[in-house]
Amino acid sequence: MTASIKYSVIVPMYNEEAVIEHTYDRLKQVMDCTEAGYELIFVNDGSKDRTVELVTMIADFDPHVRLLDFSRNFGHQIAISAGMDYAGGEAIIVIDADLQDPPEVILAMIEKWKEGFEVVYGRRLERKGETIFKKVTAKAFYRVLRSMTTIDIPLDTGDFRLIDRKVCDVLRGLKEKNRFVRGLISWIGFKQTSVEYVREERFAGETKYPLKKMVGFALDGITSFSYKPLKIAGYLGFFLSFGSFIYLLVVLFQRLFTDTTKAGWASMMAIILLFNGIILLLLGVIGEYIGRIYDESKDRPLYILRETKGYPIDGEDAAREGDGSNPHNGEKREKTKQDRKYV
Ligand code: UDP
Ligand code: MG
Repeated sequence: MTASIKYSVIVPMYNEEAVIEHTYDRLKQVMDCTEAGYELIFVNDGSKDRTVELVTMIADFDPHVRLLDFSRNFGHQIAISAGMDYAGGEAIIVIDADLQDPPEVILAMIEKWKEGFEVVYGRRLERKGETIFKKVTAKAFYRVLRSMTTIDIPLDTGDFRLIDRKVCDVLRGLKEKNRFVRGLISWIGFKQTSVEYVREERFAGETKYPLKKMVGFALDGITSFSYKPLKIAGYLGFFLSFGSFIYLLVVLFQRLFTDTTKAGWASMMAIILLFNGIILLLLGVIGEYIGRIYDESKDRPLYILRETKGYPIDGEDAAREGDGSNPHNGEKREKTKQDRKYV
């Protein structure tokens, strides 16, 4: 069976007992239409309800179904990442368990994939049945994220998407712990396109993203792809120092040419203004270094190759391995050159 798997569908679940059987039915209907080998990978992210029992029962009679059962709640993004580690398909689809992302859209994604796109993300035209607060914060978040980063993270897209095996392998090679999967997929590149859909109401149950998780998620998204917040001290320092300098001139003027100042005031002001400006500027400098340390510690590959030509030794697989355990395709290239020397 494993050999012929074409599509892997990853479904992260956290306390989804109310909906999971429906989700399975809908997914099965859709995936049967593809007339290709597929697997449904249900990842249980430490549910405290009967989610696992239900999926175990389903897995007992349907050989397409797999279950990954976490020891505790590790988080949505990690559940998706685990699913990718265990996916065997040529195309991998990530979909929420609550039927907010209509499974039927997968067929449209597969069509795009067959046309040669390596990432097909679902773009939400409309979000039904969500609170105004959620809609507004979500909209704002995607826009702030976009303005803060240099990579092209598409607006209003969640994790509902199809990725090619190549992309999945590169993603698995990125070892950073605070994973913001949708951002990483944008960062990876490859040929990307979107299909549009209307985000339905949750089929049953309630959101598993309370405000606290949402804030954490947003912070992960922003800090993983931008160190602008760290630069703020630097900018502030610059503007404040400038303002302080001007005000310092005013203080000096008052001290020297008027008699409106009290003894000691001018020197005190001068010191406060100068030193606060300098401290903020230096914090900005430290921020720049911390930002660079952060970049280094993420240890992302310098670049990712789609494929190589003319390298007989390991040509074809370069794009796939390029960023697994040995993240630098550059290294690989050097090795190949060296090997050639010895042939
Ligand atoms: N989820 C998860 N772990 C968590 C929170 C959520 O695996 O800690 C799953 C959840 O079961 C669902 C998906 O992530 O399949 C999206 O969650 P939800 O629908 O609650 O988020 P919302 O649509 O409200 O943003
Ligand atoms: Mg949902």
